[in-house]
Amino acid sequence: MNCYYDFHIHSALSPCAEEEMTPNNIVNMGLVNGLDMIAVTDHNSARNLPAIWQCAADKGLLLVPGIEVESIEEVHISCLFPQLEAAEEMGRFVGAHLPPINNKAEIFGPQYIFDAHDRITGEEERLLLVSTDLTAERVFQTALSLSGCAYFSHVDRDSYSVLSALGTMPADIQTSVVEVSDSQAGRQFAKGRKDLADKRFLYSSDCHRLSEMSKRKNKIDLPQMTTQEVINWIKDMR
Ligand SMILES: [Zn+2]
Ligand SMILES: [Zn+2]
Repeated sequence: MNCYYDFHIHSALSPCAEEEMTPNNIVNMGLVNGLDMIAVTDHNSARNLPAIWQCAADKGLLLVPGIEVESIEEVHISCLFPQLEAAEEMGRFVGAHLPPINNKAEIFGPQYIFDAHDRITGEEERLLLVSTDLTAERVFQTALSLSGCAYFSHVDRDSYSVLSALGTMPADIQTSVVEVSDSQAGRQFAKGRKDLADKRFLYSSDCHRLSEMSKRKNKIDLPQMTTQEVINWIKDMR
């Protein structure tokens, strides 16, 4: 079945995201846009996933729990998981590899943690918009070991992408999928790269505000609409 998705959405836990990116607003916008499934992938943290998980379940939208990890090479990697608990485990692992730098909300923006009713229950104190001390390879390995999957984010961008940081796809990381920005320029870029010729593409918005979320446009064909089938598709275990 065709499943319309946007697998790259930041909540207001990411300091660079707008404060309107609350659990209910994200889920409602996904439904308004006609999406079947979304992934919320905050920078280096999974702390808003429990609230968004509950909210999505209540409203009938499939949430694929995720996290966008920044590796030591300053490469962004999207990690998705079949269950909330695995994503939270990844979040704790990544959190242990963040540098001890506190956020300055007045400079970088607040890092809000919500409950399922959009009430702010706390703020993440450590700055999330930094690189961890994890190699890209270790990020991929850890996501896999937690029954999830990983793929390089926005490979067409000139910052924080594997191609901008390393010049080409690393030979030691097995991955059949890469993420490309959901734009004409992103698609053009991906088509023209020889080192992406054998890859399958996911197009996502990397939205930091509600108006940027993908519409009902990008789809993958799954036997069933479940988080596990999404992971299988990305790991090419179809
Ligand atoms: Zn990114
Ligand atoms: Zn992002």
